[in-house]
Amino acid sequence: MKPLVAIVGRPNVGKSTLFNRLARRRIALVEDQPGVTRDRHYWDVDYDGRDITIIDTGGFVPGEKDSLLQQVREQAQLAVEECDAIIFVTDARVGLTSADQDVAHYLRQSGKPVVVAANKLDSESGTLQALAGEFFRLGLGEVFPISAEHGLGVGTMMETVMGKLPPLSPEELAAREQAAKAEEAAEAGETGAEGEETPPAEEEDRPIRVAIIGRPNVGKSTLVNALLKEKRVVASEIPGTTRDPIDSELTYKDRKVILTDTAGIRRKKTIAHRVEKFSVVAALKSMERSDVAVLLMDATEPAVDQDAKLAGIAEEKGRALVIVVNKWDLISTDKRKQELFREDLKHALKFVHYAPIVFTSALTGSKVEKVLELAVELAVQFRYRAPTPQLNRLLEHMSDNHPAPIVGRGPLRLYYMAQVGTAPPTFAITCNRPDGVPDMYKRYITNQLRGTFDLRVPIRLLFRDRP
Ligand code: GDP
Ligand code: GDP
Repeated sequence: MKPLVAIVGRPNVGKSTLFNRLARRRIALVEDQPGVTRDRHYWDVDYDGRDITIIDTGGFVPGEKDSLLQQVREQAQLAVEECDAIIFVTDARVGLTSADQDVAHYLRQSGKPVVVAANKLDSESGTLQALAGEFFRLGLGEVFPISAEHGLGVGTMMETVMGKLPPLSPEELAAREQAAKAEEAAEAGETGAEGEETPPAEEEDRPIRVAIIGRPNVGKSTLVNALLKEKRVVASEIPGTTRDPIDSELTYKDRKVILTDTAGIRRKKTIAHRVEKFSVVAALKSMERSDVAVLLMDATEPAVDQDAKLAGIAEEKGRALVIVVNKWDLISTDKRKQELFREDLKHALKFVHYAPIVFTSALTGSKVEKVLELAVELAVQFRYRAPTPQLNRLLEHMSDNHPAPIVGRGPLRLYYMAQVGTAPPTFAITCNRPDGVPDMYKRYITNQLRGTFDLRVPIRLLFRDRP
């Protein structure tokens, strides 16, 4: 699981400037998906060989309605609850403010690793750098003079941040080694996709991780409880430390299914007065650990902005997605109405058109089991490996029926296709103009792949030059 690093601070101190600078190291998406919101407040970046997610909390807690102090407190709370390290940005030109002190007090009590950035120190002159000294009074340890705009001091500060992150787990170290080896093999063999086709033996026994996500009050905890009640619970709770989320485990048709991050859902029940804030970050984090995201919506209030945002994250993260329209008991029993609803929803969430939609009532238990059934089905598709000969027959079929368009001075020629990855299924196509494939044609290929192999999960395409 990638560590999360949050940027916190008052408005105008330079959080987004710093965020954008760090985002330059972002891990390239295989294919930018049109339609997914581009207004991003988090990025996965590769910092000195380690993947981390950085978050601009200012973007997640915009402060239009709340007072400034309230807003910064909420950002800090978000960072403390969800993140592994915090960069607390201050404006050294303005100096220490009471809002800074208030937040520092909260951060100190949290015990989370924090570094203080004294920003807007745009030159290395001693007098300017001395302005950082004042921020020692925050009691958060070392203060890093930086200029987010010019990049000064940012590297030194990040070194310390990286040093404060939890160490890589043995699994992560092993996965890294394996990835490095696979890359080497791929480079040596170029078209050596055949070598990657033997699935690891333990694949079948892998538990399926399912993240239950959605806005507050859509019925997440009701659904989880309904699922747990229905299915024999193997180990109702895997005890964790105070920091670890508590997952629920159950079996469905002999497959082990782990519902992730249900801790937050349960916690809410015990702390009744606590107003659960909608947390995209929490959803992001639980999706990071899952194969399948189950996105719940409220049938009486469907596809609002936040629903779309969560669906967009699932697509970007390349997770399988089940869309659940819950509280359907409040709407109708009319089948026709359901179909109209489905059409509207498909339209509103075009960018995840492949995701199945179920209409449930977590309260009555109606169609609740269908959610599990789909999650398991999609998890299998998510790790599906298509046979290479069949892929190349498909490529031939496509060239015959829907010839590739003219690109630049000549026709686009597709030579061969191989699956180079799973979770999500990723296909590499060797062609004469890898940069010139029109989006329309990419969509056509993707849809053909979906149709041929019945893949209702995200698909990634890579276009490569002939070696
Ligand atoms: P945020 O509200 O905390 O996200 O702050 P922004 O990143 O939007 O920055 C607020 C203003 O401070 C913008 O006008 C930036 O150009 C400016 N700014 C940010 N970093 C620096 C810096 O290192 N030096 C100077 N001089 N200005 C900066
Ligand atoms: P969460 O915040 O997403 O975990 O939502 P809860 O599971 O706490 O549900 C919020 C409210 O919606 C509760 O009062 C539930 O009883 C109610 N609720 C949940 N699912 C359904 C449903 O399918 N139908 C109806 N009518 N109410 C539901």
